[in-house]
Amino acid sequence: MQFDTVIHGGTLVTSSDVAKGDIGIRDGRIVALAESLSGGDQRIDAGGRLVMPGGIEAHAHIAQESSSGVMGADDYLSGSVSAAFGGNSSFIPFAAQHRGQSVDEVIATYDARAASSVIDYSYHLIITDPSAEVLQDQLPRAFARGITSFKVFMTYDMMNIGDGGMLDILSVAREHGAITMVHAENNDMVKWMNGRLAEAGLTAPKYHAISRPELAEEEAINRAVSLAKLVDAPLFIVHVSTAGGAAIVQREILAGTRLFAETCPQYLAFTRDDLDRPGMEGAKFVCSPPLRDAETAEALWRHIKSGTFTSVSSDHAPYRYDETGKFIKGADVPYPQISNGMPGIAARLPYLFSEGVVKGRISLQEFVGLSSANAAGTFGMTGKGSLAPGMDADIAIWDPEATRVMGLQDQHDNMDYTPFEGMELTGVPETVMNRGALITHKGALVAKEGQGQFVARAPMTLSGHGHLAKERDPAQNFGAQI
Ligand SMILES: [Zn+2]
Repeated sequence: MQFDTVIHGGTLVTSSDVAKGDIGIRDGRIVALAESLSGGDQRIDAGGRLVMPGGIEAHAHIAQESSSGVMGADDYLSGSVSAAFGGNSSFIPFAAQHRGQSVDEVIATYDARAASSVIDYSYHLIITDPSAEVLQDQLPRAFARGITSFKVFMTYDMMNIGDGGMLDILSVAREHGAITMVHAENNDMVKWMNGRLAEAGLTAPKYHAISRPELAEEEAINRAVSLAKLVDAPLFIVHVSTAGGAAIVQREILAGTRLFAETCPQYLAFTRDDLDRPGMEGAKFVCSPPLRDAETAEALWRHIKSGTFTSVSSDHAPYRYDETGKFIKGADVPYPQISNGMPGIAARLPYLFSEGVVKGRISLQEFVGLSSANAAGTFGMTGKGSLAPGMDADIAIWDPEATRVMGLQDQHDNMDYTPFEGMELTGVPETVMNRGALITHKGALVAKEGQGQFVARAPMTLSGHGHLAKERDPAQNFGAQI
């Protein structure tokens, strides 16, 4: 058998297995797995290394304007390079509709922006304006192109679409086999807290954490799940930051609800004390939902271990610590005017590996599930997330024993800080391959700008899952088919 590349001598890891073996690659796909393979135009020695499916980053803000028009620091070139140095071979950033825009226009805009990506990509559509044209014509066109997930907001005045808007989106999603993602925080609770804090003159960055209470997330998760159950639509809760929120997710999954969720490294690695760093430095840790406490982090780790979370995602939202990013509205502004978000696309997997696998919290197989395989399944990247013959040769080769102290130079993004600065981590992704082409190799960038491709994603299979609310269930004889 002819191979373009053979990766030999490594320990292969998927979400189900760990075994020594070689991988044969031809025309961008895995074509053979064996104890030993000879040949190959290129042979990559993976002795002493772990060979895993490349990470799929399912939550990142790349070349995206916030609702107040602030453009993040990373475009698709720097964002994808940073992702690759962090062990990812594909990512799914957001394509954000702002009110009044058509979805077609949004997709065309992001197609142009994404052309520079060095790894494969797709988009989750953010919908802020679910008009009749959007629901009836534009979203079905997006699905037809393989954009099978979109995100809605329950918070932020410029983004949130109300419970009725969510029901409309959820039912269109159900019809097409798409999955709806939701940022779940109660908008009025946050605004009310903001008002109280402003009246009391409490405006330093640390008050950001107080302004967005745990109850605001828990209430909104519970409500989002209820809305999804009414229309029997699958739902994905992004960036769960509370033990109470995770417990709702766990309970609903056990009850058979078609529910998925993620948490993020920042809710495991940092606490609201980081918002109280000297001067305005706490601004580096302003993100929403906000950082919580050490007890919450331990609870979230337990949920990771017990399967509550589909994935651990970065929520990379790169706003520099300067007047282009965090302080675009001024240097000494009250916390509500600090740009929201933290970078971390290159740190997500090294952090999860070091704190999760190396410290014995999760197994290697669980690491692959949380970093790649589950996202591939949930978001319809059917050719990715495993190492089986026929799959895309999207592969990350890790040195599991190398240690480093994380710094800005390891991130390869356009940022001027990393929240992970100074953290000692074990395990380094040395080589990343996307469809058989080297993206990074032994710590150096090999990829050419623009070699990533758009991935049309498969719809979600709904049969045999979920529950129809009894008032909408034909078997219940309520006398109305709606
Ligand atoms: Zn986000």
